Amino acid sequence: MKVYFDNAATTKLREEVIEVMMEAMNSSYGNPSSSHSFGRTSRALIESSRKEIAKHLNVNPQEIVFTSCGTESNNSILRSAIDFLDVKTIITSKIEHYAILNVVDFLKTKKIRVEYVNIDDDGNIDLEHLRSLAKIDDSKKIISLMYVNNEIGNILDLAEVSQICQENSVLFHTDAVQAIGHFKIDLKQIKIDFLSASAHKFHGPKGVGFSYIRKNVLSEAFILGGQQERGLRAGTEAVHNIVGMSKALSISYNNLEKEFIYIKELKSYFVSKLKSIFPNTFFNGNSDNSIKNSYLIINVALPISSSKIDLLNFQLDLKGIACSKGSACQSGAALGSHVIKNIESKSNWPSLRFSFSSYNTFKEIDYLMETLRSFEKI
Ligand code: PLP
Repeated sequence: MKVYFDNAATTKLREEVIEVMMEAMNSSYGNPSSSHSFGRTSRALIESSRKEIAKHLNVNPQEIVFTSCGTESNNSILRSAIDFLDVKTIITSKIEHYAILNVVDFLKTKKIRVEYVNIDDDGNIDLEHLRSLAKIDDSKKIISLMYVNNEIGNILDLAEVSQICQENSVLFHTDAVQAIGHFKIDLKQIKIDFLSASAHKFHGPKGVGFSYIRKNVLSEAFILGGQQERGLRAGTEAVHNIVGMSKALSISYNNLEKEFIYIKELKSYFVSKLKSIFPNTFFNGNSDNSIKNSYLIINVALPISSSKIDLLNFQLDLKGIACSKGSACQSGAALGSHVIKNIESKSNWPSLRFSFSSYNTFKEIDYLMETLRSFEKI
């Protein structure tokens, strides 16, 4: 049996996505910048995809800029804020993805001030501290905080952070890579300047993502070359990937309610089964909180000695079960998760992240639990 519980790392392509991508690859090979009919066909596909994506976020299609991935979106947004918008201070947290943390570290070497907002023991952002950081001086600032944490699933209060930004004239970027396609977001209701998304996290293809860049916020190119993407991001567009991303997003949002209920049930089944095997298990962050946490992610600290975690991972892999280690550095040998290290871990137990999709079944959870039960006896 093969069981995939690593959907926060990447997701399976939906059949319908593969179909539209194949169709685009077969019949729309013209360069979208060419003025002949071949080019126009590709251009039309790109623009209808942009429109479709914009509709789901309730934004203007011109505010969607296609990129190659979430990492590119994060890099280009933060670097553009520094290069073109005179930002001198970045406010972020220590539990962001490395596609933010490493950019921020680099920008520090360019004399950009970086402030890290406090987080509580469960990895929640201290909003009062954030409010005070937004006022620390009169330099131009950007707050960059992820919407859904990729390791512990904590959800940011976007509306509140947006409010703080507006009250203090601070730009707001959210890395929404783990949220887009899984949570409804209306950017007319919540004012955000920049947002990053990645198709492979919502059953779309790898190698494509998009940035939402609020109208009139940015007008200078972050990749120089041709005039693609309103002159902001040069390079011939990956037509098939863009079409696949748009299809994947539409299917995800059209099925959201149904899939949300199903996956949430899977997750609570997982929690109750796991607790019956390891009654002392605890959940990192807000993982087992059904309101303050993503329904897709659970991060568990298992009451086993850290010396046994490699054996457990080996055993899971042998049984065809995929999950993510995401464990704090226990031995000092391997680098552990920076997220787990930065929250107040209530134990020294090793942690594992399981992340679900609508392709998972209750039977798969039973199979995982049987594997854990037999391991527990070792
Ligand atoms: N941001 C978050 C929160 C992520 O989870 C990931 C991927 O794991 C990224 C950014 C990077 O996205 P991509 O793989 O599309 O570069």
